[in-house]
Amino acid sequence: MGGLMQGKRGLIMGLANDKSLAWGIAKQLREHGAELAFSYQGEALKKRVGPLAEQLGSDFIFECDVSDMEALDKAFDTLKERWDTIDFVVHAIGFSDKSELRGKYVDTSLDNFLMTMNISAYSLVAVAKRASEMMPNGGSIVTLTYYGAEKVIPHYNVMGVAKAALETSVQYLANDLGPQNIRVNAISAGPIKTLAASGIGDFRYILKWNEYNSPLRRNVTIEDVGGSGVYFLSDLSSGVTGETHHVDAGYHVVGMKQEDAPDI
Ligand code: NAD
Repeated sequence: MGGLMQGKRGLIMGLANDKSLAWGIAKQLREHGAELAFSYQGEALKKRVGPLAEQLGSDFIFECDVSDMEALDKAFDTLKERWDTIDFVVHAIGFSDKSELRGKYVDTSLDNFLMTMNISAYSLVAVAKRASEMMPNGGSIVTLTYYGAEKVIPHYNVMGVAKAALETSVQYLANDLGPQNIRVNAISAGPIKTLAASGIGDFRYILKWNEYNSPLRRNVTIEDVGGSGVYFLSDLSSGVTGETHHVDAGYHVVGMKQEDAPDI
């Protein structure tokens, strides 16, 4: 299996700790030979991201708050100073005020709607624009989404609406960047306990529900997500773009509670 990412280098955005989906993807990219740079949000995360990057043979880390276009420009300038071209980007970023990730969607405030859309959906567009300028030989961009974009998941609220915009952005970006042989895809991961997920109301219930009702009768891991990350960022998926690919133990194909599902 080794060598799928040999000679490829790219940027991982959205690593917070060793529970992050970005970590699951970065680990497997490195195992397959990729060279990695990491951007982190804010000084506080630098202490966490530095040692993790080091574990994967990288000393190339820099700050980037994706809601700030100047900060994004600066981050890509930093990337360009060391690497004139890149082959891939992992966009594993989402944020909403957790007080609105519970209760009813109808109560969403304008400020939080706009902030959630900005950080969780528009940032992919802003990143794709800057990354594509560094991909003269083509490339691959992957983002992370969730089933709450397709169906109502209680508490997911405004984040579901932002993920729907993100998934549609994947299609429009794939079409815009396709002529440059830049592919854009999304991995729709099942629920996994991470820092971001801990902000979602009743997340433990969602985890149990998915475990009992998915065809594989289990939750997915960051290693499951990492395997699909390698597929999308390597040439294995050379003919695939604009796709939202479910890594959710099959949950999205099920229409009702399984007969063998215990009460939660
Ligand atoms: P995480 O908390 O480990 O990662 C979220 C990351 O987003 C953090 O690194 C955080 O610093 C970053 N971020 C937030 N606002 C930012 C900003 N303004 N600028 C730059 N970075 C910012 O949690 P995670 O679950 O690994 O989340 C990664 C992605 O996976 C998110 O898009 C999330 O919606 C998605 N996802 C998660 C799950 C799940 O159950 N955990 C399921 C499907 C999709």
